[in-house]
Amino acid sequence: GDLDVNVPVQTRDEYGKVIQTFNDMTLRLREAEDARRRLVADVAHELRTPLSIMQLKLENAQQDGHDIPPEMLLRLHDEVIRLSLLVEDLHVLSLAEAGRLSLDRQMLDLTARLEQIVEDVMHEAEEFGLEVQLSSRTRPVMVLADVRRITQVFINLLTNAIRYTPGGGTISVEIEDQVVVSDAVFASVSIADTGIGIPAEDLAHLFDRFYRVEEARSRHSGGTGLGLSITHHFVKAHGGFIRVASQPGTGTTFTVYLPANRNDFS
Ligand code: ADP
Repeated sequence: GDLDVNVPVQTRDEYGKVIQTFNDMTLRLREAEDARRRLVADVAHELRTPLSIMQLKLENAQQDGHDIPPEMLLRLHDEVIRLSLLVEDLHVLSLAEAGRLSLDRQMLDLTARLEQIVEDVMHEAEEFGLEVQLSSRTRPVMVLADVRRITQVFINLLTNAIRYTPGGGTISVEIEDQVVVSDAVFASVSIADTGIGIPAEDLAHLFDRFYRVEEARSRHSGGTGLGLSITHHFVKAHGGFIRVASQPGTGTTFTVYLPANRNDFS
């Protein structure tokens, strides 16, 4: 393609350095171009199936010459909502991948925020026969974060824990402050479930967009396969990172690390 330019470096002087820089830039442009192509292909793939199902249903209804039955309208409406969510997720993801995600950072107490989030998902968890526990050794646990984005991070992780844990299971949320990882200080939130777990070979791809462990198993759950990608980007944008540990048949623990507020006042 247009970007397959690579100038051989023959000199080690300034001129050689300029050529090296040029080659590095070419490589980066090519990577960005590849990423863009993959995204477009993924989106086309994801939109095709639901759209053709809706098209078919509408055409059949028209051919029969009947009005569209109310149940079908409900199902079509659900599909439209799912597609809208998908498009919304893709929009956010494309901003994040371009490094253009804007954060509205404020000081916030992770413990208080998580108490509220857990309360919000509790109802759904109970419907599936799951128990949700929250524990924090200290409070408040302050971080500088975008409340909306960080809330979505924990909602995504908790929703997954609920989805992939059979009835009777437990989801434990644990908050810790002043966790040191490679000389930096973090606040951490771990979300541990007693669910189906994730096979070791899938762990490396878990944060890739549209990645699902065993298509069939995840299909019915109604997710877009973008949740963990978005989660990963949101945490990264805050200067944090996520670790995951899992044992198939036993459960999964996701741990979110966010830069701790430097305690300048003590
Ligand atoms: P989805 O919308 O399919 O849930 P996600 O990006 O949120 O997409 O998750 C990607 C995949 O990772 C899921 O399809 C599921 O296979 C797996 N997964 C995520 N969280 C868990 C969990 N807590 N337990 C088991 N599997 C999980």
